[in-house]
Amino acid sequence: MNVLVINCGSSSLKFQLIDAESENLIAKGLCERIGIEGSKLVYSPTGGEKIVIQEDMPDHTKAVQMVLDALTNSEYGVVKSLDEINAVGHRLVHGGEKFACSTIITDDVIEAIKECSDLAPLHNPANLIGIDACRKLMPNVPMAGIFDTAFHQTMPEEAYLYGIPYEYYEKYGVRRYGFHGTSHMYVSQRAAEMLGKKPEECKVIVCHLGNGASVSAVKNGKSVDTSMGMTPIEGLIMGTRCGDLDPGIIEYIAHKENKSIDDIMKILNKESGVLGLSGGLSSDFRDLEDEFAKEGDIVGRRALKTFSYKVAKYVGAYMTAMNGCDAICFTAGVGENGPIIRNFVCDYLGYMGVELDQELNNKRGLDLIISTNESGPKIMVIPTNEELMIARDTYALVK
Ligand code: AMP
Repeated sequence: MNVLVINCGSSSLKFQLIDAESENLIAKGLCERIGIEGSKLVYSPTGGEKIVIQEDMPDHTKAVQMVLDALTNSEYGVVKSLDEINAVGHRLVHGGEKFACSTIITDDVIEAIKECSDLAPLHNPANLIGIDACRKLMPNVPMAGIFDTAFHQTMPEEAYLYGIPYEYYEKYGVRRYGFHGTSHMYVSQRAAEMLGKKPEECKVIVCHLGNGASVSAVKNGKSVDTSMGMTPIEGLIMGTRCGDLDPGIIEYIAHKENKSIDDIMKILNKESGVLGLSGGLSSDFRDLEDEFAKEGDIVGRRALKTFSYKVAKYVGAYMTAMNGCDAICFTAGVGENGPIIRNFVCDYLGYMGVELDQELNNKRGLDLIISTNESGPKIMVIPTNEELMIARDTYALVK
């Protein structure tokens, strides 16, 4: 069964066509600048040449149409007709408390996703546009929704409640939801495999360190805590997001700089994180690592060290939440490619028996254990594969 995985943002659409039985990638690509001048489709059939198609995409329906045309093109397509696309899996951001697992998309489900839009006003409407476009062009193809928040719905009350009046939870759903759930689920399952165990038999800490970043505690295959909260700004210091913060700072800066709450939130979301810590140098860890490599550097070190310290603090906290762990996994752009960050983080974890193998830490590749044989918890690098997880869930629901 071929599953088309769609990840739809407000002006972009990423896709992968995956054979869900063999789990092989058939083609992938990206539509950029939807609704903006200069839109293009970058299409990569597996084993073939990358193709760039520049054409106006006034809306997402046109973008999906271009994706389907590329996939079925007689010259560079990968399927003969749309009949060979058997299901669509949509990556959806916020399912609130309504969705604790993936689901087949129906009219009722669409209404429920709309009701969660208050909690993710930038993401959920864009996701819904993607569903709408696919339904228009493939009305008879079954579709599934896979939520970023669903995996964390197993968190216990003590992990998801904030210390504020309980009525805000009851009235408005103010609680911690967590994100990157598909990635945390994929990586924790793969870690169990690498340990030679079932997910139900192990405790895993997953550090998803990308431009957005979160840590999760996965006990017996279930998320019991995670660092992102009601929105994706809580937790770790990220590329441009501040992470955990004393709420008093918001009022303090607003008064000092004569700014509104909206102004401050923009600063905390877009101008903070390692970008802010580096004095505006970069939100990209590659630039910060280059800076760190220079003699006399202060700025790169400040950003990388502060970032890593926070990751290590969460790992320590989740050791407590789970009473130990079998593996600590690094994933996403920085986690997969950043030996310096992994080193900085693991430097703090010696007390729990963590011992990195420096040679392995500098290796690149798939699914590596980078700790020594003696290391207490194993340290792993596992490239995340959210699209595969979406294809798996879609296949399970549709077959
Ligand atoms: P993601 O959000 O998972 O796509 O991760 C994006 C981030 O990964 C970028 O902002 C980079 O900072 C980081 N990244 C990607 N490649 C490398 C690399 N080779 N070394 C360090 N950081 C990297």
